[in-house]
Amino acid sequence: MKKVYLNRAQAQIARPKTIRSINRQIVLNYVRDCAPISRAAIAKETTLNRSTVSTIIDVLHADGLIEEIGTGHSSGGRKPTLLKLKTGKAIALGVDVTPIKTTVAVADMGGKILEREDFPTVTDAVEMTALIVEKVSKLVKLFKKEKLEIGISVPGIADYRTGKVLYIPYFQWHNWEISRILAEKTNLKVTIENDANATALAELWFGGSKIREIKNFMTVLVGEGIGTGIIFDGQIYRGEKGAAGEFGHMIVGGNAPVLCSCGSRECWEALASEKSILARYNQLLLKEKRCYAHLSTNDLVEMALRGEPNALNALRETGRFLGIGISNLIIGLSPQAIVVSGSISGAWKIISGELKSFTRRSVRNGMPAIRLMTSTLGNDPTLIGAINLVLARKFASA
Ligand SMILES: [Zn+2]
Repeated sequence: MKKVYLNRAQAQIARPKTIRSINRQIVLNYVRDCAPISRAAIAKETTLNRSTVSTIIDVLHADGLIEEIGTGHSSGGRKPTLLKLKTGKAIALGVDVTPIKTTVAVADMGGKILEREDFPTVTDAVEMTALIVEKVSKLVKLFKKEKLEIGISVPGIADYRTGKVLYIPYFQWHNWEISRILAEKTNLKVTIENDANATALAELWFGGSKIREIKNFMTVLVGEGIGTGIIFDGQIYRGEKGAAGEFGHMIVGGNAPVLCSCGSRECWEALASEKSILARYNQLLLKEKRCYAHLSTNDLVEMALRGEPNALNALRETGRFLGIGISNLIIGLSPQAIVVSGSISGAWKIISGELKSFTRRSVRNGMPAIRLMTSTLGNDPTLIGAINLVLARKFASA
């Protein structure tokens, strides 16, 4: 039961506009999930009346979000016109900033990427801002006939409401104004979100059907660091100024093979992130008096799947610490599911045993059982997250 606040600033009155917005959201989601579908079928499924559905469809059509794709079978009378999401037309421009590389990409309403460019992330905030503005402007020019909106995913604390990036730990950037600058330079609407929150929202709105149906879940994004996104009752939980979910800095051990971005050797990030896998692998090489290897997590996952013992051990040990952290999340928040994303999920059959042994321990202590799942967002979860910040706005409200 949600508390109703009577304070003027917080009270949300169900005005006709709110109701229209909710109905629009319902219809658009039906078109996406059940396409090809007719107006009559939507009215029947939603119990909205025919004229309401037709009015909403007209607006969605005028906004370029859906299209007609011929006629279906008639059960007497005129054949119904079938509808689906409008694909192939650029609608979202995603900017995915990670500690190593940055990607700008344009996608359609179905999330299909139409154009993309990757470039190395630089450690100077001013230089990085200029680079992003340059690459984004190029894409905006390329798609100048389309009405684009921008979504940005960043590996740090971002305030969704004000658009301010409060802190990026990897580069020690404070108050990075990328959102405001990009909006001024392009004249487009910009939405910004922490990377783990962006992936959590993408799983909620556009993930596999098994994840989309879950109301309370957490995403664990394993990359250079570890970020978590909290979906609570079908909504993202951001905390004050978007700073919730910084579980990457919870203490889960000591003597990590690598430093956390905050400088500690005790944080979850230092013990279970991608950089810890490589550090463990190199520690094992050192024991054999072999040289340091520069490998990506994907390389290590592939080697482990082929049975290379050092890669296998490095991944198992990392899986153990990932399991300890996940077990703490379960004890604290009791979600229905935990979704793991990042390259490490490619080694699921190697690490899932370690993860499950810890989560089972929490469950044995009286916690309800939870589902451990891998992400359904593919190889670029944070890029999909950035793009979906725009798409979710289309699906969520008018
Ligand atoms: Zn830390």
